[in-house]
Amino acid sequence: MSKRIAIIGSGTAGLQLAYSLRKDFDVTLLHYEEPEETRRGRIQSTQVHFHPTLQRERRFLMPDTNDAPSIQTIHFNVGTQKLFVGRLKGAASSVDQRLAYSTAMDDLRRQGLRFRNGRVSRNELASMAESYDLLIDATGKAGPLVPFPVEAGLTPFQTPQRKCIVGYFKGVSPVEPEGISITVMPGIGEMFEIPAITEQGRVTILFIEAVPDGLLDAFKGIKTPQDFAARMESVLQESFPEIYGRVDLDRFSLVDEVAFLQTAITPIVRRPYLMQSGTLVLGCGDSVILADPITGQGCNTASYCAEQLYETLLAHQESPWDEQVGIDYWNRARPYVTAVTEWTNAMTGPLPEHIGQMLMHAAADQETADRIVHWFEQPSTAHEAFFRR
Ligand SMILES: Cc1cc2nc3c(=O)[nH]c(=O)nc-3n(C[C@H](O)[C@H](O)[C@H](O)COP(=O)(O)OP(=O)(O)OC[C@H]3O[C@@H](n4cnc5c(N)ncnc54)[C@H](O)[C@@H]3O)c2cc1C
Repeated sequence: MSKRIAIIGSGTAGLQLAYSLRKDFDVTLLHYEEPEETRRGRIQSTQVHFHPTLQRERRFLMPDTNDAPSIQTIHFNVGTQKLFVGRLKGAASSVDQRLAYSTAMDDLRRQGLRFRNGRVSRNELASMAESYDLLIDATGKAGPLVPFPVEAGLTPFQTPQRKCIVGYFKGVSPVEPEGISITVMPGIGEMFEIPAITEQGRVTILFIEAVPDGLLDAFKGIKTPQDFAARMESVLQESFPEIYGRVDLDRFSLVDEVAFLQTAITPIVRRPYLMQSGTLVLGCGDSVILADPITGQGCNTASYCAEQLYETLLAHQESPWDEQVGIDYWNRARPYVTAVTEWTNAMTGPLPEHIGQMLMHAAADQETADRIVHWFEQPSTAHEAFFRR
């Protein structure tokens, strides 16, 4: 008989796990939002999936959104100075999670995957443990549901390092060649401009990472979409004149009433395995590896770990599922998680001098520009550049 797995949470981690595990195991996906609720809900991310993540999604036959803008480059600016345009090794894309998650859930349901609707509570886990061989906590930043121990060495902060301010807009002409544009404003934060696809068509995501209480932390108390759009317009005019120059003021508006978000994240890494009432519980995604989105890696890390979890379970298909399986999973994922976490945390502080020099050098050297941009596809190369000289 196939081993029984409960995946709790239907986000980036839970969905990729459901696609990968459904052939070899008896999988139930526990979720509390129906696809229609997700589709109509508030945005939660800017969700750039870099090439390795897209490859994993193809490997597990996840739905493709071919009409998403193909992100081939990253433009890098400091203040009003354009430094360079680096080329990614493979195309990336940003598909509105509301669209991607609801499409994948509908697809899995059509394919006969078992779903159970309802928010799983911490109290329920002991009784659930009796019915399954494995519980996977993929509850995102609302989680985790079990007390996975904190990895203190990878968890240096007690408070958020940035305020995250995001809107999906119409009426902004893309940068050329089309890609992501990053503008670093030393001491006050960053702006990320990302071409994306939503149910209503293409949009430009404007994502401010504001140092708390600095000049870009200018959205306090804003509640309505109209006020949000108006404030974004004035921030662009004051601090990002190049973007403002590409705004068509007659068309500039949020793509829908809930296409904006304000949040702040305290990064935290937890050891992603635990025995609960004799049953193994594994964590995957933000429930165990939660990072500030400054490097756009949360989905990519969730996808990487989901693949490692899948490989671990295949390797242990015939043996009992106990703590050793958790140890093997963490041993596989840990080097990547360490690299992405240490790099991401470093990006929220002042950039080291040698990285500043490398960015300046990239302005005159395409190979260096491409190497820097590749950090986002392969975080171990970023870690190497930052820490191993
Ligand atoms: C502003 C911002 C921008 C970002 N930009 C990027 C980016 O460009 N690239 C990138 O890679 N990452 C980005 N991220 C991070 C990325 O969005 C997350 O890392 C990723 O979505 C995590 O996936 P997940 O599956 O762990 O969690 P989620 O996608 O949050 O999914 C969690 C799921 O669990 C469900 N759930 C929660 N609790 C329960 C429960 N008790 N019972 C049942 N179900 C439950 C939820 O409904 C949801 O479906 C960004 C994050 C933020 C905040």
